[in-house]
Amino acid sequence: AVRVRFAPSPTGFLHLGGLRTALYNYIFAKKHQGSFILRLEDTDQTRLVPGAAENIEAMLEWAGIPPDESPRRGGPVGPYQQSQRLELYAQATKALLESGAAYPCFCSPQRLELLKKEALRNRQTPRYDNRCRNLTQKQVAQKLAKDPKPAIRFRLEGEAPAFQDLVYGWNRHEVASVEGDPVILKSDGFPTYHLACVVDDHHMGISHVLRGSEWLVSTSKHLLLYQALGWQPPRFAHLPLLLNKDGSKLSKRQGDIFLEQFAAADFLPDALLDIITNCGSGFAENQMGRTLPELITQFDLTRITCHSALLDLDKLPEFNRLHLCRLVSNETQRRQLVGKLQALVEETFGSQLQDRDVLDPAYVERIILLRQGHICRLQDLVSPAHSYLWTRPAVGRVQLGTISEKVDAIAKRVLGILEAPSISLTQDMLNRELKKVSEGLEGTRHSTVMQFLRVALSGQLVNGQMGWTAPWSPSFIHSADIHWPAL
Ligand code: GLU
Repeated sequence: AVRVRFAPSPTGFLHLGGLRTALYNYIFAKKHQGSFILRLEDTDQTRLVPGAAENIEAMLEWAGIPPDESPRRGGPVGPYQQSQRLELYAQATKALLESGAAYPCFCSPQRLELLKKEALRNRQTPRYDNRCRNLTQKQVAQKLAKDPKPAIRFRLEGEAPAFQDLVYGWNRHEVASVEGDPVILKSDGFPTYHLACVVDDHHMGISHVLRGSEWLVSTSKHLLLYQALGWQPPRFAHLPLLLNKDGSKLSKRQGDIFLEQFAAADFLPDALLDIITNCGSGFAENQMGRTLPELITQFDLTRITCHSALLDLDKLPEFNRLHLCRLVSNETQRRQLVGKLQALVEETFGSQLQDRDVLDPAYVERIILLRQGHICRLQDLVSPAHSYLWTRPAVGRVQLGTISEKVDAIAKRVLGILEAPSISLTQDMLNRELKKVSEGLEGTRHSTVMQFLRVALSGQLVNGQMGWTAPWSPSFIHSADIHWPAL
């Protein structure tokens, strides 16, 4: 059975790069009726960020790709946090010590520091000189008496096995000749990444490891560990990096790549899943607007290429607009959007609402249906550009006066049309009647009449535009010495 895992270190909140790794694991699992596991790699206790573990799991749920097994949900092969699995790493280490594949290292931090400095001075990559590798049993016993908790190193020896990465093809990295023997268990009893990852992937029955390409080189080391432990390794598929559209690193420092921020800014999870898969590979073709079930059916691991994926976040509003329209077209989803928008209106305008009828579900639904293609996020409907939908604009004679000096005459005629008892307000009829207003007023164009109406009804000179920011500034309206009845 397919079993895959997303194994982040809780050293930060979930960001887009992590989401992408998780998503590929999720869709691969679901495509093959397998399980998607969340494992927290929290063995470096000095780098833990408070709240990160909870954030990662909560954000996976928000994104609609919840793990089947996880620290919160539990599962058959838990615990799912490495800090609670120390016993397993100790067992594996013991086996490696017994077979001679690992050995205790008594080198002091000072000595290791000196080695490092010397290497750097000679412009070499620092590596451990494997000094403790050849201690005799007697020497070990003597040293253990003084230092009962040494670090344990893995003997990197022999040719690393070649492996066929499902994305990068055949690979082999000569780790043994390049690197010093790595520490696998620290003196505090915590494992390092390489050991913990191998032990857990084995005990959790992981069939495929889909992870970032930065780990490709480490895989040879992992395979040597599998060999030494006598275990069958999983298959590996390394995923190319997700980069900014200019090819620079998608960094946390940019500040706008945490999932939380997208959620708070009212972006839809589906839009995020769509945009981060759209810029990469894994599908026969790239097309906008795919939903999660479509991602699952259309995904094909063999189509992932080695090229980095370039993410253009400027396109996110457009992705979101598409997914919002899709939700609107579904009755159940639309009802949920109505509820959400009602809450947003209440939250944004609250006591400013002169007319509580605007909260009527039928009215709210009509607004959504009318404005859908014009907005990117539902939240845009409560932006200043759309406030006229909910509150009466405070428009004064001053503003209307700037449109035409005949504004009083225009207002009188327009109100005349609207108040005529016999009139049925169809769009055609209204258009025809409004045309007559400008025709009857010399020197007044139809567009002026329409502009008058726009400002009187919405308090705005231009149509509310799509986008992140409202083009209209509230400072435009500063006095309200006349009040036009709402139509
Ligand atoms: N903890 C590693 C990370 O955060 C996981 C690497 C792996 O998937 O093996 O990237």
